[in-house]
Amino acid sequence: MAKLKRHKNLIDTAQIPKSVRRIVQKLRDNGYDAKLVGGCVRDLLLHIKPKDFDVVTSATPFQVRRIFKQAQIIGRRFRIVHVKSEIGVVEISTYRKWNKDHIDPAVPTRSVVRSPKQVGTMKQDHRLRDFTVNALYLDVEKNVIFDFVGGLRDLKYGQLRCIGDPETRFSEDCHRILRAVRFVSKLDLKLTEDLAQSLHSQRDLLEHLEPHRLSYDLEKMLLHGYARALCNNFIKYNFLSYIFPEIDTREALSQAALKNTDHRVKQCKPVRFAFLLAAFYWHDYRDLNIRNDREAEILAAKRVLEVPSQRIALRADVRDFVIETWRLQAKLEQRPLRNGKQVLSRKRFRAGFDLLCMRAGLGEASPEIASWWTKIQEVSEAEQEQMLKEVAPVRKRRSKRRRRPREVSKQIVAVTQ
Ligand code: ATP
Ligand code: MG
Repeated sequence: MAKLKRHKNLIDTAQIPKSVRRIVQKLRDNGYDAKLVGGCVRDLLLHIKPKDFDVVTSATPFQVRRIFKQAQIIGRRFRIVHVKSEIGVVEISTYRKWNKDHIDPAVPTRSVVRSPKQVGTMKQDHRLRDFTVNALYLDVEKNVIFDFVGGLRDLKYGQLRCIGDPETRFSEDCHRILRAVRFVSKLDLKLTEDLAQSLHSQRDLLEHLEPHRLSYDLEKMLLHGYARALCNNFIKYNFLSYIFPEIDTREALSQAALKNTDHRVKQCKPVRFAFLLAAFYWHDYRDLNIRNDREAEILAAKRVLEVPSQRIALRADVRDFVIETWRLQAKLEQRPLRNGKQVLSRKRFRAGFDLLCMRAGLGEASPEIASWWTKIQEVSEAEQEQMLKEVAPVRKRRSKRRRRPREVSKQIVAVTQ
């Protein structure tokens, strides 16, 4: 039996954005219970800025939408509601309970909550959550944390513990295996013994990762400043082949891309999952694209991307980004440089340039060319023109056909007549 513990004033509620508090308050004003839950409570306790805020309520998704007119019900089978706020989207889910006849018993987190009868309570809801540190509920107004499963204690001792038996929870939803590695990497938590054992013994469940969900999960996991730690853990637990087939992220270019991504996150610069993919699979593309003409490039890109596509659903924009980044390599390295101005204005120029610099750093591309591209982005337009002129192909002068003097040709005409 879960034993509820209440803890008061552990959180500095000033860290919770006003817009989030307003959403919670509005649900309460309408007669529903509403609390913060999951990563935001956990991270606030660890003095980490939460990535997002998850609200859980006793209102059904349709009732939530009646309160927030702009809200969108999201996901297969109406799982959550997205409400836009000043700090981005706030996810509102409904208290769930184990529902014998819900559609997909393998994934209790996705159960349908259509009518108020199907709404659970906080006490029922916590059992369906994955780890103890993710099952802390915060009453924002009273600044009270509700803890049914010792999540606070685990957080204090840096432990990641499954709610229930890890084997059962992983076989219900194999994405939880990845989530475990995500929290270990992000928060540097230690796995409890049974959880660590299950990660090894149930690895093969990763065969069943759902490609669209995996793609979403990877974007969530790799673009928040702990990508290198995460990929190292994928290797440690032998997960890599289930996620990025035929890739070893220990390889220098992959490591450089992961490090660069984490660094950019710290600097609040934009980061893309597609860029990591371009770096991970660059060598495969390069080795296949021997002819280096347009047809060979497209063919090589298509064949290389077939490999990760067996696991991850790659959106069209991700594919286009990767292919363009790869194709730019030859264009950037080309000397003499044809259409330099056009290359500079290509949509993915920056990504292509970043990959080129990484390759140059590893001795795979010319450092002179990489610094030339660095410089051209820093100089004035007139200097740019000059730099482009210096590396443009030398125009061959057309040999002028000698024309006969007019008079002579006239004479010839006269003679032939
Ligand atoms: P992050 O800070 O990265 O967002 P998070 O713990 O908030 O981490 P979310 O994916 O936002 O992760 O999920 C919010 C909460 O929903 C989790 O904390 C957990 O309680 C619950 N949850 C999410 N996915 C699952 C799952 N597959 N199984 C069980 N519970 C889940
Ligand atoms: Mg979250």
